[in-house]
Order: sequence, then structure tokens, then C-alpha cells
Amino acid sequence: MIKRILVTGGSGFLGSHLCDRLVAAGEDVICLDNFFTSQKSNVEHLLNQPNFELIRHDVTHPVYLEVDEIYNLACPAAPGHYQYNPIKTTKTSVMGAINVLGLAKRVKAKLFHASTSEVYGDPTVHPQPESYRGWVNPIGPRACYDEGKRAAETLMFDYHRQNGVNIRVARIFNTYGPRMHPYDGRVVSNFIRQALAGDDITVYGEGTQSRSFCYVDDLIDGFIALMNAPDDLPGPVNLGNPDEFTIRELAEHVVELTGSSSSIVQARPLPEDDPKQRCPEISLARRELGWEPKVKLRDGLQKTIEWFRSIDLDSYRAPTPHY
Ligand code: NAD
Ligand code: UDP
Repeated sequence: MIKRILVTGGSGFLGSHLCDRLVAAGEDVICLDNFFTSQKSNVEHLLNQPNFELIRHDVTHPVYLEVDEIYNLACPAAPGHYQYNPIKTTKTSVMGAINVLGLAKRVKAKLFHASTSEVYGDPTVHPQPESYRGWVNPIGPRACYDEGKRAAETLMFDYHRQNGVNIRVARIFNTYGPRMHPYDGRVVSNFIRQALAGDDITVYGEGTQSRSFCYVDDLIDGFIALMNAPDDLPGPVNLGNPDEFTIRELAEHVVELTGSSSSIVQARPLPEDDPKQRCPEISLARRELGWEPKVKLRDGLQKTIEWFRSIDLDSYRAPTPHY
């Protein structure tokens, strides 16, 4: 039977790929977004589809709809975006969670929530299993996002225990691919944009900090697998690619794959509270969802580079100052 599915943050990087997948599967999709860190062009190709609808709305305000499933993705995700207006970031995470939970409770919808590896902070356990409780600075520049997402997880589990809301909490690790905002300041978008322009590649710190990069198509498979998993799996479930790279290694891959003449430079010290290592432990997702990423970093980067070559950078609005 066709499902009515709400995707908050549906016009963003991950949200637009999820909408593509759900529309192609024939579901009735409502994409809700305030376009803070995205633009309509991400879902323009869906606008003439009869099973796709776009609503401009801010999740800090309640919304009344009748749906069977909700994917709650609305939240700025890149550090430069979420630090632009940190109070609003916490409001979006917390009030957004309360509003979608209220909606899910009222209409008995299943609710998938996009949490993050940032709930682990600058981790002292490596790789990070779901049981690790994290090392988060509650008053630092990343706290609006980290603590906002932690509070949203708390709300998810309290609505689940108290009101029986059917929740699915995913802890998403660094993901990249086409439709990342080219000026989001994240490492993959910065490096590719810089390499294609022949500008310096700006490594922060010595570039020895690590991240594990998941290609967007793999992640969306994980979203749908978790949403469709049996009802006794509220999560949290780590979703990410366990292949770990230093930021300097990432820069070297990007330079090689673009054939760029850019130099790799140490542009500034490591930002405050920047996690020094990050890698998902994904045995829970492997076991319970039969899910694991398939796309190797170099293959995913190649596709992302092709997309960056195809876009007109002047058509992108900066939600925050361009760096
Ligand atoms: P994104 O910035 O491209 O997408 C977020 C979307 O939410 C944007 O379209 C934005 O306009 C919208 N939005 C922001 N505030 C809103 C509000 N108050 N009301 C309505 N819409 C609002 O980022 P993304 O990478 O697609 O991230 C999507 C979700 O996944 C976020 O919740 C993020 O925290 C989570 N996540 C992403 C990553 C990643 O690596 N991409 C990692 C961990 C978690
Ligand atoms: N980074 C970098 N150069 C850049 C942008 C980011 O060296 O131009 C580093 C950043 O300091 C962090 C890592 O790359 O150590 C990943 O940063 P990103 O903003 O993509 O996401 P994070 O995982 O920190 O949320």
C-alpha cells in the first residue's frame, strides 16, 4: 500500500536524495523545509511528480498533517551552518523534535530521526559503538548542535517509553556526495571546490585528525533499512562507513582525482573542540539491518567531483558567509 511520508529538511543534501528514493518507490512524499541551508533546486526535478509535494515551513513551529511515516532531517548539519545562529540550531533540534514527536503521536506515524556521530563529541573510545556515551563540551562552539541532537535523542526515547511512539534513531557519520551545499564549509565540499578552482586546499591543524566518509547512496539505503526494520529496533544505530582516513589523506585523494595543481596548506589551527578521530562501529547495523556501505571513498569522490564540475557555483545562495 502507498505510504504518506513526511521528510523534514527534505530539500537538503540528504533529504533530497531520500525524497528521490521515496518518490521513485511510488510513495506519497511531502517535503518540508525552510531552505535555510538548501535551495529548491535540489528538488526541482521532483516538483512535477504527482506523488511529491513541497511545503515551506520551519520545524520550530507545529505542523498538522496526516502521514504514515516521518523522516526528521531538518537541522543545519555543517559546522559553519550550525554555528551561524547557534540558538536557532538548538531550537531547531529540540523544538523540531518535540513538534515531529507530537505529530507522530497524534497520527501514530513511525518516526525516523537523523541524529549524529557528534553525540560522541571528541571521542575517547575508538571506533565508536552505540553504547559509548560520548565526550561532549556542553558550552563550546559545537554544543548547540551536539547537545541539541543529544536532547532530541532524549525526547525520542521518552516519547517512545511514555507514549509508545514508534521511533528509529540513526547516528549518522560524515556523509558526502552530489548536492552537498558547495559553500557549506565541510571538508569534502571545501577540498573539491578548492581543487577545481586551483586554490590552496585548506587543511585545518596538521591534518592528522580522522574522519570516515560514507557515500550518500549507501547512507540512504541505511535510512530505509532502519525505517523498515522490525518494531523492536528503536536504535540508536550507527550509520556510516568504517573506512577511516586522515584529513591530509582526503586532501591528497582529491588533488589526485581532480588532477589539480592546488597546494595542500595548513590554513589554520584545528578549530575548538574539533574531534581528533571518528569512525563508526557498525556491527549493530550489519547484524540487524543487513546493511553496510559498498562505495569506496575514491569512487564516491569521483562521482562527487563530477557533480561539482557540473554545477554553476554562482547559482548557490550562501546561508552563511562564503569562506
Ligand atoms: P543540509 O543542511 O543539507 O540539510 C538540512 C535541511 O534542513 C536543509 O534543507 C535546511 O534548509 C533544513 N532546515 C534547517 N533548519 C530548518 C528548520 N528550522 N525548519 C525546516 N527546515 C530546516 O544537511 P544534511 O547533510 O542533509 O543533514 C540532514 C540531517 O542529517 C541533519 O539533521 C543532520 O544533522 C544529519 N546529519 C548529517 C550528516 C552528514 O554528514 N551529512 C552527519 C550527521 C548527521
Ligand atoms: N577541515 C579542514 N579543512 C576544511 C574544512 C574542514 O581541514 O576546509 C577539517 C575539520 O577541521 C575537521 C574535518 O575536516 O577536522 C571535518 O570537518 P567537517 O566540517 O567536514 O565536519 P565535522 O566532521 O568536523 O563535523
